[in-house]
Amino acid sequence: MENVLLIRYGEIHLKGLNRPYFERALLQRIKQVTDSLGANVTREQGRIFVFGIDDEHLPGVLDSLTRVFGIHSISPAVAVNKDYATIADTALNLIRTRVASTGDSTFKVFAKRSDKSFHMDSMTLCRELGAYILHNYDGVSVNVKRPQIELTVEIRDFAYIYTDVIPAAGGMPTGTAGRCALLLSGGIDSPVAGYMVARRGVELSAVHFFSYPYTSVRARDKVVDLARLLARYTGEVKLHLVPFTEIQLAIYDSCPSKETTVLMRRLMMRIAERIAASDGARALVTGEAIAQVASQTLDSLCVTDDAVSMPVFRPLIGFDKDDIVRIAKRIDTFETSILPYEDCCTVFVPQHPVTHPKLDTLRKSELLLSDCMDDMIDRAIAETECICVRYED
Ligand code: ATP
Ligand code: MG
Repeated sequence: MENVLLIRYGEIHLKGLNRPYFERALLQRIKQVTDSLGANVTREQGRIFVFGIDDEHLPGVLDSLTRVFGIHSISPAVAVNKDYATIADTALNLIRTRVASTGDSTFKVFAKRSDKSFHMDSMTLCRELGAYILHNYDGVSVNVKRPQIELTVEIRDFAYIYTDVIPAAGGMPTGTAGRCALLLSGGIDSPVAGYMVARRGVELSAVHFFSYPYTSVRARDKVVDLARLLARYTGEVKLHLVPFTEIQLAIYDSCPSKETTVLMRRLMMRIAERIAASDGARALVTGEAIAQVASQTLDSLCVTDDAVSMPVFRPLIGFDKDDIVRIAKRIDTFETSILPYEDCCTVFVPQHPVTHPKLDTLRKSELLLSDCMDDMIDRAIAETECICVRYED
């Protein structure tokens, strides 16, 4: 008898001939999470099994695995030899343990027989196990419509028995969908936007603009923390910290005040695009949503897009702030995002920002910077600090 984590992976089964590629990527991520504990990870017929995690490490490993993209759900299970008496005793013990910890009192047995050579079919196994448990334990009764305990037995290379199914992050394994560059501010939205594309299997580079001394070291640390929280899902985030003060001051000094935010955003996009290209990223990602603030009107978004030729993905485009906050709380970035450190977008906010910018007008304003713009961009990129952020407990 051995404790094991039984891992189900959702959508990968749709991927036809590419399936082994997705399965390998998922297996690799699971090994990354469990290797240091000496776990043994195996795959068999649409399931992945993690053996060898002791009780002390189990809660931590479970928490980490529920954040691995590509995993649909996880069941802590007991693996035993495919011998009916052993299966029945183990099932009874699991029910007893569950009743003791939760007070639940109704159950139903589910069986899946992947190994068709096993001498009982699923129906018979359910019936026999149900009867065995009822006969040997007074504390429970059967409820087929709404059981509190769903005892499941899967007959495979071993018999796997479990009562809990823990939902996980879903999506596709990290690394199977290429790389994107996320414009990561210290706010609520951009980490959520990064999470949404990463969930589809995208690896993340993150680009953050800071304006020291107008923004503090603590604001920078907060962004490193946010990247770390995203790395909890993806394994690693490559974070680029771009000094932006010189460019912001130049815009502020030379361009019409009401246009400064949109002009600044166009420059951010240009720099992010160059960094993205050098990282092998194929698209930019932002946390913008239509009409959330002045710089996110449809006109502003179009004018921002015009600055770059790379596609710009905005996974939150149709979301209300409430929806975004809900996801931020669920993925554990919210508490960090609301720490009150300033962002470079907020220190230089004009009093009356243009809400319907015209491309021609903005291009003319940019000409006011044309003497120094390329040099400033080169300098910002040359002085960019790049760190590989990983999540460690
Ligand atoms: P967030 O919660 O992501 O900060 P926001 O509602 O504050 O969003 P803005 O400040 O207008 O929105 O920024 C819109 C988007 O621009 C952000 O979601 C992010 O992708 C990008 N962005 C803003 N500031 C920065 C920054 N300092 N560094 C990198 N990207 C930024
Ligand atoms: Mg912001």
